[in-house]
Amino acid sequence: MKKVDSIFVSNTLHQTPCCVPYFGQKIMVGLSGGINSMAVLCDLIESKAKPAELHLFYAHFAEHSPDTFQFVADGIRYARKHFDNVKVKITSNSILRYFKEQNLIPHPINSPCSKNLKIIPMAVYCFENGIKYDLVGYVKHELKRRGERQQKVMQVDMFTPEKHYTIGSFTDEWCFDIVKKHIGWYPKIYDIKDENGKRIFSHNNCLPCKNMNPKDFAAVAEFYPDNYLRALQLSQELKKFWGRSEDDFYFTFEGRELGQPSTCNDCRW
Ligand code: SF4
Repeated sequence: MKKVDSIFVSNTLHQTPCCVPYFGQKIMVGLSGGINSMAVLCDLIESKAKPAELHLFYAHFAEHSPDTFQFVADGIRYARKHFDNVKVKITSNSILRYFKEQNLIPHPINSPCSKNLKIIPMAVYCFENGIKYDLVGYVKHELKRRGERQQKVMQVDMFTPEKHYTIGSFTDEWCFDIVKKHIGWYPKIYDIKDENGKRIFSHNNCLPCKNMNPKDFAAVAEFYPDNYLRALQLSQELKKFWGRSEDDFYFTFEGRELGQPSTCNDCRW
């Protein structure tokens, strides 16, 4: 494991035959349903790691793209073929339900959905299961910003697992390759592209995410119209707004300046 920019990165797990990565340790991969976290799992398999226990945690959301659950299930099955002791925790969530209960659609600067439905349950799970290392799927272009932010807000105590950014030297395309090689497929959302061949949805997360820009929201309307309609219905019912809009920014939201990044460290939007 080498220290880069003050955070731990190991992209060479499988190139160190003299030691067996994570030998005898309890480790966790939080599967998000996206390509990066699945790539972490595939890379771990290639590394010939021998953890005492591999824990896979997945917070499923009704608003994930339709084949996401299947993708995660295939990843879990594949992990079980390669590791002796795989433990799985899946939670079932819905942001629409959550927002309705809370009577809000949160501003991008606050992510109670991510915090309460993903981060806290995962932290509790780690504590209850004595997880030593949490393998996080940040790739090269996001490692510095997201990784450092994550380290800053992370509690440092004996109960909080150490975060390892095992694919922090790789690119998104590398993730697609390794996932295709091992799992054989990935969610269809990634193959929706514009006329220039650029992915319309760079992440596989909630549809819609409350952090989305109007352009992202329009893409949800076009490609996932049922999700869009349900989200719109909730908006009308609660009289709250989704996403960011430069025009009505100061009227719709409070507290966050234009151009400030979302503070949600867990979800990519
Ligand atoms: S993807 Fe967006 S809406 Fe979904 S949990 Fe994360 S921040 Fe909330």
